Amino acid sequence: MLKTVFESSPIPTFVIGRDHKILYWNRAMEQLSGIKAEEAVGSKDPWRGFYHKYRPVMADLIVDERESEIPFWYPDKQSKSKLIDGAYEATDFFPELGGGSKWLRFTVSALRDSAGTILGAVETLEDVTGRRLAEDTLKESEKMYRALSITDALTGLYNSRYFYDQLRLEIERAERYRHPLSLLFLDIDDFKDFNDTYGHLEGDSILARLGKVILKSLRRTDSAYRYGGEEFIVALSETTGDAAVILAERIREEFENEGFYPLGGGKAVFKTVSIGVAQYIFQEASRIFLKRADANMYHAKGQGKNRVFYRNE
Ligand code: GH3
Ligand code: MG
Ligand code: MG
Repeated sequence: MLKTVFESSPIPTFVIGRDHKILYWNRAMEQLSGIKAEEAVGSKDPWRGFYHKYRPVMADLIVDERESEIPFWYPDKQSKSKLIDGAYEATDFFPELGGGSKWLRFTVSALRDSAGTILGAVETLEDVTGRRLAEDTLKESEKMYRALSITDALTGLYNSRYFYDQLRLEIERAERYRHPLSLLFLDIDDFKDFNDTYGHLEGDSILARLGKVILKSLRRTDSAYRYGGEEFIVALSETTGDAAVILAERIREEFENEGFYPLGGGKAVFKTVSIGVAQYIFQEASRIFLKRADANMYHAKGQGKNRVFYRNE
C-alpha cells in the first residue's frame, strides 16, 4: 500500500537506504529526471539523476549525517525545513535535467527506526522553473518601472523628483569628504515667443534637443535633470564653481549653434540658454544652494541672456 501511495503521488520522490542504494523512484521522478525506475532502483548513484559527474545529493548527506556539509554543497540556497523536524530544503539550478535546464526545490528527511537509527532518506522535489522565471520577469519590470519613475520622458534626463533625492545625497557626500559641489541652472531664452510662433510641439523638440546637448557634455560623475518645464539642472560633484563655468560655457555654446527647422518656418531658427552657476557652501541648506543657482540664472537673463553667470555669495 505504501508503494502504491508513493507511485500514485504526482510529486517527484525517491528513497535511498543507509548504503545509498536507491529503493524507490516514482513515476513523477522518472518524468522529471528522464531516468526510468528500473535503471535507478538498486543503483547507488542517485547523483546520476541530477548531475553529469559525481557529487553527493542532499539525501546522501542526510544518510551519512553530514548535515554540516549542506551549506558547502548548496551555498546560500539551503535551510532547515520549517515543516518537518530534522529535514532540509534547498533550491538549485540544474543545467541538464531530463533534457533541459530546471530550477528545483527539494526537501530531504531522514527515515529513522524507533531507536532513532538512520534507515535511509526520502527526497521530494518540485520544479520551480516557472516560478523563478516569473520572479525574474517581475524583477526586470520593477527595474524598468523604477527607471521610468525617475526619468523625464521628453528629454531622457532625470526628473525633478529624483533631483531632490540626489541633491541631498550629493550634499551629504560633499560635506563628508569636504569636496566641492556645483550646480548649473539652465533656462531657455524667450521660449514663450518660440512656442507662440511655432506651437508647443515644436517647442518640445527644442527641450529634447537641449537634453541631448547637456547629456553629451556630461562627465561620468555629473547628472542632469529636467527641473521644470523649460528649466534644467546639472549637478557636478567634485567640481568648483570656476570649473563648472567652463562646462556651462560649453553647453551654452553648443546649444547656440544648434539649428532648428520648425514646420512652417522655412529657414533655420536658433535658440539660446541662460545659465546660473553656484558652488555649494558648506553647512548651507539645499534649497538656499538651489536658490543661489536660480538667482544667478536670473542675473544672466538680466545681463542680456545667452550667457553664464557665476557669483558665489
Ligand atoms: P526668458 O528668456 O525670460 O526665460 O523668457 P521665457 O519666455 O523663456 O520665459 P517664461 O517663463 O516667460 O516662459 C517659459 C515658457 O516655457 C512658458 C511656456 O510656454 C514654456 N514651456 C514650459 N514648459 C513647456 C513644455 O513642456 N513644452 C513647451 N513646448 N513649452 C513649455
Ligand atoms: Mg523659466
Ligand atoms: Mg525661459
